Amino acid sequence: MKLTILGATGSIGASTVDVMLRHPDKFSAYALVGHQNSARMLILAKQLKPEYIIMTDEQAAKELVGKLPKGVRLEVGMQAAIEVSQASDVDMVMAAMVGSAGLPAALAAVRAGKRVGLANKECLVTAGRIFMTEAKRCGATVVPVDSEHAAVHQALLGHDHASITRIILTASGGPFRERDPKTLKNVTPKEAIAHPNWSMGAKISVDSATMMNKALELIEARWLFDMPAEKLSAIIHPQSIVHAMVEYRDGAVLAQLAEPDMRSPIAYALQEGTRLDAGIPWLDLAKTGRLDFQAVDETRFPAMRLVQDVMRGGDALAIALNAANEEANQAFRSGQLGFMEIVSTVEDVLQQTQDVAIASLDDVWACDQLARNTAHRVMG
Ligand code: NAD
Ligand code: MG
Repeated sequence: MKLTILGATGSIGASTVDVMLRHPDKFSAYALVGHQNSARMLILAKQLKPEYIIMTDEQAAKELVGKLPKGVRLEVGMQAAIEVSQASDVDMVMAAMVGSAGLPAALAAVRAGKRVGLANKECLVTAGRIFMTEAKRCGATVVPVDSEHAAVHQALLGHDHASITRIILTASGGPFRERDPKTLKNVTPKEAIAHPNWSMGAKISVDSATMMNKALELIEARWLFDMPAEKLSAIIHPQSIVHAMVEYRDGAVLAQLAEPDMRSPIAYALQEGTRLDAGIPWLDLAKTGRLDFQAVDETRFPAMRLVQDVMRGGDALAIALNAANEEANQAFRSGQLGFMEIVSTVEDVLQQTQDVAIASLDDVWACDQLARNTAHRVMG
């Protein structure tokens, strides 16, 4: 199988490459797409020898000129990323850029009818309706890579949609699950990025600390599994061993368990009928000892309250939630915004967002830009 990896230089990119290199007989790289990290891309180019290397950032592309292995072509910009996502030689696209910046290339892959491994949840939060409608129309297969959604996908196999009563995503609660809420305003980016169970990119790590990640994942699940908001919920599970549960009409609940390592859902997304060795340790439940669950405290994690309204409203609210969060998350990571202000900024932006109808991608981008502008006004 020939792959294009969007976001190859990131955390999901690294785990994808790890799984691919365990199965060189099955996988090769057609194109690797990165943004600014040219040093990491050079290593990947030597390891995988793809046909194309794309850097969406011009300066980063310049840093690679003359350094790539023979036969590897270098291109620059988002249009090039779109082209290697829809090229006829590509069998599968791993969509692992971060943020709604990843939408154009992932959507191009969908429109070319590709198999798409979707890690980039912001795509679905921003344009889930368009994305999934286009996937159906163009015969694309969208396989979730987000661990909770990969778990749901597995728990749904062989069951009919009408029998599902609930989909429950688990959430670790992040690094601040038990921290005194009064001290949260002093949290530093370094503390917020240090996730207890998962090693991930900076943006999603901060999203996990605010639980905005779970809010985004509920919206993601809504589109991936065509589920109304009432059937979607989240529960805190500090061990991150159970990734999701699907409850059926007869009271049966199917859960998927695995060590918290993204190579497992990535290997699941890459396989075509035969499961792949993902290189992850076997789950030893006797060693884990216990699996705990508790309700989400919406006072501690107000993002989980906001998402309820967003899911019951129109698509413009989800676009605004995502865009405002991307801006506030970035402002926090660069030291310009307090931790508690991330979600309060999103809430303020939502209050100022008109829930207008979203019919096209142009509408999506207009709403996204408006929310980003509002977020900057709110942050001052
Ligand atoms: P990361 O920050 O480690 O990597 C992001 C990748 O996107 C990098 O390759 C970067 O070069 C690229 N990128 C960043 N900004 C870009 C831009 N403006 N244009 C083009 N490319 C850009 O992030 P990650 O943790 O690998 O997460 C990637 C996606 O997968 C996110 O949507 C995240 O929510 C999702 N996800 C990640 C994990 C995880 O364990 N890391 C788990 C589930 C879902
Ligand atoms: Mg997840």
